[in-house]
Amino acid sequence: DREPGTGVRAQPRLTVVSGPSGVGKSTVVAQVRKLDPDIFFSVSCTTRAQRPGEVDGQHYHFVDRQRFQRMIEQDDFLEYAEYAGNFYGTPRQPVLDALAAGRPAILEIELQGARQVRAAMPESQLVMLVPPSWETLVGRLTGRGTENPDVVAHRLAVAEKELDAQGEFDALVVNTDVRQAAAELLTLTTGRPS
Ligand code: 5GP
Repeated sequence: DREPGTGVRAQPRLTVVSGPSGVGKSTVVAQVRKLDPDIFFSVSCTTRAQRPGEVDGQHYHFVDRQRFQRMIEQDDFLEYAEYAGNFYGTPRQPVLDALAAGRPAILEIELQGARQVRAAMPESQLVMLVPPSWETLVGRLTGRGTENPDVVAHRLAVAEKELDAQGEFDALVVNTDVRQAAAELLTLTTGRPS
């Protein structure tokens, strides 16, 4: 990770990971975290309700709409978006601090946010995690079992739109096998073979 011939460490990169609901983003990103503790993983703010098993400050910073709104006004977010009726945003300063300290950083966010990061930081790298096939994704979204058919249909419609944006991304990682996908994402993030 040095610039050839200069002996100067290359500026670490910001990597944005997006992909449709059900593709397995969280699982792949969690695997990358295990492989390389030097990578900085951004913790987003969200207004959505905390799910069982989620830890405040670890999975998300759970905030109310008023606090989220104030953070928007203070320009605290690198990007933010509304998704499925809730707000999600990436606190800017921790990401900038990590990059300045020489650590590569990963944001796991949805498409609108990825586009904002690309606009704000053109040197960032956009990676889309895609399913091996459309049928696999349908199977995963349906197979969760808990959701009603309307919710599944809506997720599939959103997923189709997200997959349509593949051309805006610098790299695609196919999630056939979690460990393989994590190895590829690690290589893209750190710039060195895993
Ligand atoms: P969930 O509610 O299932 O945790 O996340 C819903 C979607 O929001 C996922 O696609 C996730 O990647 C995305 N997301 C999580 N944090 C952020 C964020 O800070 N900004 C944006 N734009 N999307 C986010």
